[in-house]
Amino acid sequence: MKADNAPLVIVGAGHAGGRAALTLREEGYGGRLILIGDEVHPPYERPPLSKGLLQGTAELSGYSLCDSARFAELDIEHWAGNPVESLDPQRHRLQLADGRGLHYARLLLATGGRARRLTSVPERLANVLYLRTHDEALRLRASLQPGKRLVVIGGGFIGLEVAATARALGCTVIVLEAGPRLAGRVLPERLSHELLALHRSQGVDVRLDVAIEAVQGDTRAESVQLVDGALLPCDLVVVGIGMQPNIELAASAGLAVGQGIRVDAQLRTSAPDIFAAGDVCEFRLHPEGVFQRQETWRNAENQGRHAALNLLGHELPFEVIPGFWSDQYDWGLQTVGLISDTQPTASRPLANGGFLMFYLDAERRLQGACGWGQGNSVAKDIKLCERLIANRSCLALDALADADVSLKQLLRT
Ligand SMILES: Cc1cc2nc3c(=O)[nH]c(=O)nc-3n(C[C@H](O)[C@H](O)[C@H](O)COP(=O)(O)OP(=O)(O)OC[C@H]3O[C@@H](n4cnc5c(N)ncnc54)[C@H](O)[C@@H]3O)c2cc1C
Repeated sequence: MKADNAPLVIVGAGHAGGRAALTLREEGYGGRLILIGDEVHPPYERPPLSKGLLQGTAELSGYSLCDSARFAELDIEHWAGNPVESLDPQRHRLQLADGRGLHYARLLLATGGRARRLTSVPERLANVLYLRTHDEALRLRASLQPGKRLVVIGGGFIGLEVAATARALGCTVIVLEAGPRLAGRVLPERLSHELLALHRSQGVDVRLDVAIEAVQGDTRAESVQLVDGALLPCDLVVVGIGMQPNIELAASAGLAVGQGIRVDAQLRTSAPDIFAAGDVCEFRLHPEGVFQRQETWRNAENQGRHAALNLLGHELPFEVIPGFWSDQYDWGLQTVGLISDTQPTASRPLANGGFLMFYLDAERRLQGACGWGQGNSVAKDIKLCERLIANRSCLALDALADADVSLKQLLRT
């Protein structure tokens, strides 16, 4: 039963949850609003954790969505360091770790995820680190001292960004990847090759197709033993093998879950007054598409906003073009739309060894694009690609491949 005058409640004070809270106020919601988080910090964006924060060029205040003074001004109650332990959708009730119970009118679950653990590595090894939270990033930053021997387990984005930063800080770095190429789960082959060449040119010892036998040491990892017999002495191990969505609260409440909390087109879960957003949300990009999760800044931002509107009763379908980026050394990659693992339909060279790749459907409409270039140089082109995707007009392959034909021009034609 729904309590009268009960608040809107958001569980998970990360990017999606924080964005939803701020949007609710921007949209004029004047009722009681409670944002509950298990971390002690105000909501913050995570991309700087593997980049600027480790390099010492960014601090929490620079990437927080909101500070406590602003929360007070907006009359948003931020209950920090207090995990929600159980949820009763029938009674519209939450139970918190500190013993408090709370009724809600409508609820948003934005519980994100945690770093996936490598079960073969004993938890007692103090110098085996994971990276998901600000506090974990601070611990890692303190350990990345010049001359330290770092072994990164996992050749995905987080592992590679840590490797790049660690090289810049003067560490020796080995990256161990179980698959045949870097970031192979999400990137086309050509970008994996570029990343491999870049890291090797920066002195990272990247090993592909490797299996780990054991991480050795009593209280600290001293070496990593590979199945092929290689023994890699180390001062520090960073495990970056992906993210584990925090679905347990929803699952034990009886909500439909798959690899994430399942939602319909309006981001509503199987319980009518409960929505989900961000990394934990399993949704369909198209009505006939498969359920998927997206672990990206852009998705957290968009779904956080969107869920807020639907908490207010707007009933809007979530229809956006996905995308993500990664920065490593002086290079950046960006994607927009749907990138398939097949060969791109067309590609065009950019200055200084960069390029764009385009993925078109059978009618030659752009579905997705990715770019690789120095610094932030591909950002403008990727923005134009997003507009080309939204336009759904048919494109000429030779024009796409021709660096002398501006994408702006294609947009006009
Ligand atoms: C190191 C790092 C670098 C990244 N870099 C990029 C990048 O370059 N580009 C890009 O596109 N994306 C990047 N991402 C991904 C992006 O940051 C995430 O997709 C985004 O943070 C997801 O936001 P979220 O709100 O869904 O989840 P989160 O930010 O994880 O927030 C969820 C919050 O809910 C809390 N919570 C969980 N359960 C409970 C509970 N029961 N009670 C209370 N609170 C709970 C969690 O502790 C957490 O604070 C990066 C992520 C990481 C970790």
